[in-house]
Amino acid sequence: MIRTLPESLLRGCWLEIDLSAIRDNVVSAKTAAPEQKIMAIVKANAYGHGDVPVAFQALDAGADMLGVSGVDEGENLRRAGIDAPILVLGGMPFGLEDDVVRLSLTQAVYTPEHIRLLEAAAERLGADAYVHLKLDTGMGRIGVRGREELQSVMREIEKSPRVKLTGAFTHFADSDNPKDDSYTKMQLSRLKDMLSFLPDGITVHAANSAAIYRYNEAHMDMVRLGITMYGYDPTGVGLIDVRPAMEWKALITHIKEIDAGEAVSYGCIFRAGRKTRVATVCCGYADGYHRLATGKGSVLVCGKRAPIIGRICMDQMMIDVTDIPECACNQAVTLLGRDGNEAITADDIAGWAETISYEIICAPSLRVKRLYRIGGRLVENPFKCQG
Ligand SMILES: *Cc1c(COP(=O)(O)O)cnc(C)c1O
Repeated sequence: MIRTLPESLLRGCWLEIDLSAIRDNVVSAKTAAPEQKIMAIVKANAYGHGDVPVAFQALDAGADMLGVSGVDEGENLRRAGIDAPILVLGGMPFGLEDDVVRLSLTQAVYTPEHIRLLEAAAERLGADAYVHLKLDTGMGRIGVRGREELQSVMREIEKSPRVKLTGAFTHFADSDNPKDDSYTKMQLSRLKDMLSFLPDGITVHAANSAAIYRYNEAHMDMVRLGITMYGYDPTGVGLIDVRPAMEWKALITHIKEIDAGEAVSYGCIFRAGRKTRVATVCCGYADGYHRLATGKGSVLVCGKRAPIIGRICMDQMMIDVTDIPECACNQAVTLLGRDGNEAITADDIAGWAETISYEIICAPSLRVKRLYRIGGRLVENPFKCQG
């Protein structure tokens, strides 16, 4: 079969990821925390941006370590040839300890059971198991809570010659709250208390993106760079100067005119109030575009804003282009990103869909191809490519 479109565009719905923005946002974090190491968080397919290209770019921009949510994500990076240190931030399901050791991942641990399993795996494989101790200072998710639990895990580590404790960390629950510092300060003081029971010389880290920019006292030895590397300010008040790396585009597959009173899409919740020029766009909720944006959202075409009309479907959505006569079939619309003087950010879509920017950029599904740019130029092979 001869294809006239590049394979990446076959679906008519794609992401353009600007790796230069990732690079600049890493540099911004390095400026905010100049003395510290940087862990680039590339969990969840690098917040939807593509884990391998983002990991290479972040390391090239000066990141020292990578953070993933699970062993599978670490394995994906190792398969791509990444040999930088990788921390598995999430809990380890029992049974994966051999993989942790085999892949030379560093695992977050918080119970004596973890240590016993990893020691046995390391013994079997004739290697060492690297761990960072997770401390729960108030997030209430995973981690050692309080001195007694800390001491029992530490006793197990001391009995385990192949388990190497190389770091300890905690996670903030409220560091992005620009109105109230008290909970983060409380977590910092619990962290300091727990650190007094830990050996010297390990890498201590606490700061997520918000804390990198808002709490110098939380910088410790390393900072964990997440959402701001992708260009979004978690405080939502424009404190942090970074630029989005992701743009989301889709083609118009049909244009027609409907009369006043005609309905569009499921449930007929939209009725045209005038003669309306309707364009159909090949992107829907199965691509990861939130159906909750129905009735509120818009897209950009020809540098202008076109409202989404009717319910967002699984694979398609309709927009009102009555006031954009120059727009034509097979043209690209911008769902997320900039077109001329107009821009739609993940915070905008999050507002329509009643969620946060994080969920919007994680949402594009795997059938939406990721294309990569460095500066203005599309790059064929973003893997290993240097800025
Ligand atoms: C996801 C995550 C981060 C990054 O958080 P951002 O708010 O995106 O910077 C840091 N640490 C842990 C443990 C995480 O799970």
